[in-house]
Amino acid sequence: MIKVDIRNGFDVGCFHYEVLSGSEVDKELSEDKQYGICNNIQKQVSITSEFGVDQILHAFTHEIIEAVNYVYCNKEIKHGDIIRISEGLSQVLKSLGIRFTLDGEESK
Ligand SMILES: [Zn+2]
Repeated sequence: MIKVDIRNGFDVGCFHYEVLSGSEVDKELSEDKQYGICNNIQKQVSITSEFGVDQILHAFTHEIIEAVNYVYCNKEIKHGDIIRISEGLSQVLKSLGIRFTLDGEESK
């Protein structure tokens, strides 16, 4: 299994997106009933750390596609398609043994 630490963020186009996590973020996300949020104005992705590796993989993959849609696709990909693309892509990543971590270690 390949564990990719996402805490240092990622680049899309000429932008760097920060990844936010931790108890404050978990609280905000659970209030919104979300696992992740992509703020394309602030270039920040918030990811829940409450639900383990599969949820982090799924949520982070989704938010990456949100960022790519904003930077490269002029927001033309409809949200339903973002959901379907990220569903498929996270399945591919999972089958390749790739997991995203927020603590440098494999989560629960
Ligand atoms: Zn979304």
